[in-house]
Amino acid sequence: MPMSHSSSHTRATVAVAAGRPDRVPGNPLSQPPEFASVRHAPTPSEYGRYTNTSFDAVEAAIGALEGGTAVVFASGMAAISALVEVAVRGRPGLVQPLDGYHGTRALLDATTGLLTDSVDVANTEAFLDALPIGGVAWVESPTNPLITVADLGALADGVAAKDGMLVVDSTAASPVVQRPLELGADVVVHSVTKFLAGHSDLLMGAVVTRNEQLVEALRAHRGLHGAIPGPMDCFLALRGIRTLDVRVQRGQANALELARRLDAHPLVQRVHYPGLPTDPGHEVATRQMDGYGALLSFVLPTAEAADTVCAAAELIVYATSLGGVESSMERRNRQPGEEATHPGLIRLSVGIEDVEDLWADLSAGLDAAADAAG
Ligand SMILES: *Cc1c(COP(=O)(O)O)cnc(C)c1O
Repeated sequence: MPMSHSSSHTRATVAVAAGRPDRVPGNPLSQPPEFASVRHAPTPSEYGRYTNTSFDAVEAAIGALEGGTAVVFASGMAAISALVEVAVRGRPGLVQPLDGYHGTRALLDATTGLLTDSVDVANTEAFLDALPIGGVAWVESPTNPLITVADLGALADGVAAKDGMLVVDSTAASPVVQRPLELGADVVVHSVTKFLAGHSDLLMGAVVTRNEQLVEALRAHRGLHGAIPGPMDCFLALRGIRTLDVRVQRGQANALELARRLDAHPLVQRVHYPGLPTDPGHEVATRQMDGYGALLSFVLPTAEAADTVCAAAELIVYATSLGGVESSMERRNRQPGEEATHPGLIRLSVGIEDVEDLWADLSAGLDAAADAAG
């Protein structure tokens, strides 16, 4: 499988073309899932915990999209924990976002001996100030759930000046919106579960980097610890990636329209979405992203109002997670580890439905919440 770190094709094309079998007469167009734990000897790739053509295909596609080499794992958290074990543990310290994904935060905080500090990722100077020499800057951009935007290029320069490592969890953006390696990040992580796979039917994670030593260490770790994705999940994730660009383009166009309408609604106290010119992340996002992504959040006065909106929805799915073709939302503060989030904050992952149908569903819920509040 060719592994190219740069491509003259746009991401829409790469998403369709990468990770396919060679164009040899008789070869299938798509990599079939390889349901095999073992192959006939002798071969250097005999056992399925170390190699499977299904990993290779989805890794080639994710690597080509991000501009690096990808290693896939059984879930986003498996990818993150492998990276922590291989390249983070033992460093002099780590700085993470104030409002990062609660699972990552719990894992980083529980990693023995790792000194962690939490700083607003939008504040580049404060983030870099908190970073010890040789430390790890662990960034999400946009963050989940406050959709805070980090200035990745400026952070990359500052982290390099401190001999540190910049890790960017780019799950909320996806590689058609943002490519952190091109902006100077050392490592990108993805919950492939979300936008990359895109259909809420599997879990997978990926680490992407241009550091080939790190790639080898991650593969060795995966082989020993065993957090491999199954061949069917690889097949489905790659099938999802084929439509990544059209899904994300539609989702982010819908998100921008919904953000504008929510922003004008009397019951909504605040909308977090960098596509709004009034959003604190707007200027940086305009510079470093192609669009503003399909994830937003909005704040209602109370938990009750937010619960009413979630319960009233007939089209938008009331569920956790994000990045599927279907729009979904939840009151984020109900999740353990999200106690610091405003009780009335709803995170909305905007799917590819007709935006008028989405708005009709949302505004009916908002009306119900306004009526209930008197
Ligand atoms: C969901 C998510 C993860 C964890 O990924 P899983 O596939 O659920 O293990 C990590 N980071 C972010 C930003 C996420 O949204």
